[in-house]
Amino acid sequence: MKHVIIGNGIAGISAAETIRSMTPDADIVMIGDETAPPYCRPMISMVLEGSITGERLPIRDADFYERAGISPVLSHRVSAIDVEGKSVRIGGERPIPFDRLLLATGADPRPIRAENRHLGNIFFMRTQEHVRGMLQALPQVRRALILGGGLVGFKAAYGLLRRGVEVTMLIRSGYPLSQQVDSHAGRMILKELVSRGLEVRVETDVAAFDGNGAVRRAHLSDGTEIPCDMVVVGKGVLPALSFVPRDKIAVDLGILVDEQLRTTAPDIYAAGDVAESMDIARNSRWVNAIWPEAVAQGRIAGMNMAGRTVAYKGSLSRNVIRIFGLDVMTAGIVNPPEDDRYKIVSAIDRRRRSYRKLVFHEDRLVGMTLVNDIEQGGVLVALIQGCIAVRIPGEKMLAPGFNCRRLFI
Ligand SMILES: Cc1cc2nc3c(=O)[nH]c(=O)nc-3n(C[C@H](O)[C@H](O)[C@H](O)COP(=O)(O)OP(=O)(O)OC[C@H]3O[C@@H](n4cnc5c(N)ncnc54)[C@H](O)[C@@H]3O)c2cc1C
Repeated sequence: MKHVIIGNGIAGISAAETIRSMTPDADIVMIGDETAPPYCRPMISMVLEGSITGERLPIRDADFYERAGISPVLSHRVSAIDVEGKSVRIGGERPIPFDRLLLATGADPRPIRAENRHLGNIFFMRTQEHVRGMLQALPQVRRALILGGGLVGFKAAYGLLRRGVEVTMLIRSGYPLSQQVDSHAGRMILKELVSRGLEVRVETDVAAFDGNGAVRRAHLSDGTEIPCDMVVVGKGVLPALSFVPRDKIAVDLGILVDEQLRTTAPDIYAAGDVAESMDIARNSRWVNAIWPEAVAQGRIAGMNMAGRTVAYKGSLSRNVIRIFGLDVMTAGIVNPPEDDRYKIVSAIDRRRRSYRKLVFHEDRLVGMTLVNDIEQGGVLVALIQGCIAVRIPGEKMLAPGFNCRRLFI
């Protein structure tokens, strides 16, 4: 049996290791366009902020492929799949045949359209190479502009602030991390960042850049200008699936997968940021582009590819972030739609600068936002993931001293 895995990120690695542990004799080929040994992508922002060095990023040793009996095809990008002929194509080279194929190509940063966007010192922050480029430029950087207040834009802003750079963030919503937190927590985060020197401009975007080789100035859509010698584009990500034949493999935002992480084409699976699976909290399909889901999906896809039928229970968005003096933990639906079946309970403690909000859909907890009081966060995530009916009023769960573990008894 020959397994081909496209993408050597955590979803691909988790699948390859699972297949190898279950089928010692299988051929496993891994194709990836990055050269480095597998590394921890979420930690690249810690290299930018200077809290770790690049040597801490690898999550497997350099001899990982050899020891796991995997044939790596690195620094190569798959350009096409022949679904019926069961092979993948890398540029002009001979096609690589497969019996089972995993699409684990992750996501690409969402591009921008602004004029002169290819000037020097305008970066995305998706790979360790991107961060290496940012660090090389840093000695000449006094003012940085961050486009977007999502997770990546926020992490870039945080890292550069910690490096002593003057940072301006442009965001469309009124506060950063608007996909991860509600407006109350968002305003707390914004206040914290502003108190540490971040400048925020809302409801405006970049129309053009100018500079001589490297960027020197951004022209905004509201007619104003901002001098800057670095720009980080953090406007979200899109599943990396340009090589996927959409007439053969169904795609919505991501590649559609069933419970066994199978795509709509026979013997082809998908996992990680590129896949669109059932979201536990929303009870509908969603792309949850986060590390723990990429690990879980890679493992489950690997088991199914190796011949054991295993169901994936669905994905759940969640995050834990430290923002100077704030610990923030979120999961599931944080901004529910206007609908009577949703109920929100919240508690604010101004002295401790804490905020907790729970979102219920009928008797199920489907979302939470915790700021500076995150001790019970893990239990709450388990409640959401387990779809466990909550038989007490939501307010009681926020009462001082209430232990949410009791809800499992
Ligand atoms: C700055 C940053 C901070 C983050 N912070 C967090 C966080 O705090 N918490 C969290 O849970 N998640 C975080 N994430 C998201 C997390 O990193 C991803 O969810 C995770 O890496 C997804 O793993 P993956 O294997 O699906 O994809 P990826 O890690 O993207 O790996 C896919 C690999 O496939 C390669 N590839 C793509 N197309 C092709 C092709 N055609 N041919 C060959 N190879 C290809 C890519 O180059 C890449 O190496 C963060 C991401 C970034 C960038």
